[in-house]
Amino acid sequence: MEKTQTALNIALKQLDIAAKKLNLDPRIHKTLKHPKRSLIVSITIKMDNGKIGVFTGCRVQHNDARGPFKGGIRYHPNVTLDEVTALAMWMTWKCAVVDIPYGGAKGGVCCNPKKMSTGELERMTRRYTSLILDVIGPYRDVPAPDVYTDAQTMAWIMDTYSQFKGYSVPECVTGKPLSIGGSEGRVEATSLGVIVCAREAAKHLGLNFKGATVAVQGYGSVGWNVAKIAHDMGCKIVAVSDSVGGIYCSEGLNPRYIYEHKSKTSSVVNYKGCKNITNEELLETKCDILIPAALENQITKANADKIKAKIVTEGANGPTTPEADKVLHEKGTTLVPDILANSGGVTASYFEWVQNLTREHWTLEEVNGKLENKMVKAFNDVHKVAKQEESDMRTAALMLGVGRVSNAIKTLGLWP
Ligand code: NAD
Repeated sequence: MEKTQTALNIALKQLDIAAKKLNLDPRIHKTLKHPKRSLIVSITIKMDNGKIGVFTGCRVQHNDARGPFKGGIRYHPNVTLDEVTALAMWMTWKCAVVDIPYGGAKGGVCCNPKKMSTGELERMTRRYTSLILDVIGPYRDVPAPDVYTDAQTMAWIMDTYSQFKGYSVPECVTGKPLSIGGSEGRVEATSLGVIVCAREAAKHLGLNFKGATVAVQGYGSVGWNVAKIAHDMGCKIVAVSDSVGGIYCSEGLNPRYIYEHKSKTSSVVNYKGCKNITNEELLETKCDILIPAALENQITKANADKIKAKIVTEGANGPTTPEADKVLHEKGTTLVPDILANSGGVTASYFEWVQNLTREHWTLEEVNGKLENKMVKAFNDVHKVAKQEESDMRTAALMLGVGRVSNAIKTLGLWP
């Protein structure tokens, strides 16, 4: 698997910052720099054209001091072991920040899902599941969707796991379709959490959330739902984008029409009445709230000083580099970091797991009510630390997350 340092370098730098601020025990700091377990697998499948495809995949389990490992599975051509390791580490902090009883993990398969048929994706998913089967499970490690994986992918994982066990195990994976034990509200949960955080940040800034202008990068599961929920709550969506490019309309866009347009044409670009823009221009759009909801490394030293939004709420994992964090903080931009802002997804996953284990099914109102409470509490916890420490919210969230994990490690002790 190709090695790139970027995401992991960022994650390690962030850990160092939190460790320094917390005066963390060096032994715990050293432990947290490394994942507990990394499994690399070669996934061999029959392709539709009769040839054999071999894909490299991995599952990285960072830390489980606070509970079973939890984290999504990503299918992308640029997936690397280092990237997945960084994402696993962020999951550890995220579960601690939002205070749910999980550790952090992540999985990935290096492939181009856009060029694969549904049959090929199903065979790859099932074979990958069989290869990581020994290290996952309801009390061990519970996967979920991430970039270019969805509820159908989770259904294939559940079925493969259950076939191996000989009985149905819905609690082995979250983000499933409703028909097989999925939770109400799971699909929109990450985005609802992002918007709750943006709303709370606006409150603290004295900015009227209703009528606030919003730009969203990425129009997949998180991005499109963010745009829809923000629009329904009275915000004006002025720009959106996907991997092809973006669109801008000062009058405001209707996210549902854009979704229909993307479903027909595969992209948000070339929508009538809108100006086509690049992804770089989208990030620099004049707006109140910017929501990166695509991939890592989008706001960097090169463009941070050009960001005009008052609030940046990170739907994506790792979209801002530490250098850019500094620039944004210095110019007074409020950045709500990924490990807080997008933790609604894993929180709803936790609710799904609890419902599966107890064989219950909660209503949408119940799920969304509990989710909103968790998100507001986490936001206020982080905001309080930021005030006490006179720091930016990322440092505060890292201090809270790393601190809680460190306490768990200390309490458990080191065996043998
Ligand atoms: P997705 O696959 O549904 O959508 C990804 C979107 O990003 C697509 O619209 C794609 O076109 C766009 N994109 C890809 N490359 C791009 C580029 N270079 N520039 C602009 N847009 C680009 O994925 P998702 O589930 O929406 O995840 C998006 C981000 O949110 C990821 O960072 C993921 O880790 C994070 N996240 C997702 C969840 C979840 O519940 N799905 C939870 C927490 C965090």
